[in-house]
Amino acid sequence: MIPGPDYIIGCPSCGEPHRRGSLMSGNTSGARWWSDGKREAPMLPSRPLVVRCRGCSQYFWLSRGEPLGTIAPFHFQPVPVRDVLLTDVGPRRIEVMATLRRVLGVELHEAKALLERVPLELASDVTRSDAGKLIEEFQKAGATARVRPVWAPPEPPRVSNHYLVAVGPRRLEIMALLREHFGVSLSEVKQLLERLPLELHPRGGLGFHQLDELIKRYRAAGAVLERYPLPPSPKPAPLPGEELPPEWLELPGMEELPEADLLAALAQGVTQDRDEERELRSMAWWASNDPYREPGATWKPFAEREPAAWENLRALQELLDPQEPLERWMKAEALRELERFDEARELLTWEPPQPELQQVAAYLRELAEQRVPEVRVVVGS
Ligand SMILES: [Zn+2]
Repeated sequence: MIPGPDYIIGCPSCGEPHRRGSLMSGNTSGARWWSDGKREAPMLPSRPLVVRCRGCSQYFWLSRGEPLGTIAPFHFQPVPVRDVLLTDVGPRRIEVMATLRRVLGVELHEAKALLERVPLELASDVTRSDAGKLIEEFQKAGATARVRPVWAPPEPPRVSNHYLVAVGPRRLEIMALLREHFGVSLSEVKQLLERLPLELHPRGGLGFHQLDELIKRYRAAGAVLERYPLPPSPKPAPLPGEELPPEWLELPGMEELPEADLLAALAQGVTQDRDEERELRSMAWWASNDPYREPGATWKPFAEREPAAWENLRALQELLDPQEPLERWMKAEALRELERFDEARELLTWEPPQPELQQVAAYLRELAEQRVPEVRVVVGS
């Protein structure tokens, strides 16, 4: 599992910044799937979709928050990309429109419409130098453009080669080594020794391994060696807007919401379409079942849980489309957990085309027939 950058997302209501992690890569090794569709994958953790704003306490769909900035992890060297925003058109609209047309390849009427949408994203995921050029283009037209703030980890200090600092008592041995190392004459070696500290860099086709061997022999012959760190490479001047407010680095990551919050987010009307509602209701369902996934936990029937938990599962069940294979399975599972076993069994008479799912379907059918409402592991252990 390799983490990707963290993104700073602004609340759509009040702008409060929030920090969202990302994954560069993960996998489902050691994963476990439950009959209610929940996946537990240690190497592919799920991330919150909906959060509660730390500022105004409104729930919001993270993907609808405003991207404010990026924090690159330590293994990102250098941070590859920037987003460029046009933040102010300035007094020379015609020139800015011409620049938009040239840079984005849009028609005049499109350029005009774009100017109404400032702050406007001009480019995303461009290199730092391309971002700089783009900003300059718009500055020339009297507009203001900037990048989204990015925090990049400091570059690791570069370490130089070894330096010969002092020859020690066995001068002749060291001179012989220097001749071998640099392939020079005796008189040239004498000149080299006038200029201590002398950098013992690989020369004359020496590989690093051979250099290592030589370094050991210098030491064994009593020479004094040192490694000097090189000065850090100069930091390029920041692009406009590039510097991330330091307090953003301190923001905690966001956790998945507990059941009560997921239900409250639904009640607040945070979802905008059927897919979002299905997703959020599924998450609330899984959260409601979580206490009963523990080994030895006693299942609590939905009829005995909070009315909102029961109502959520009922509404989800209604929402699911039996014509969609995966949704049909989820619908059957919801009905089974609601103890509507006959309806569940009815839906589970269908044979999924995938052989690995056939086994799962058969198992769920058996549970429905035995009138067992509990959530069970279906794949993994
Ligand atoms: Zn807010």
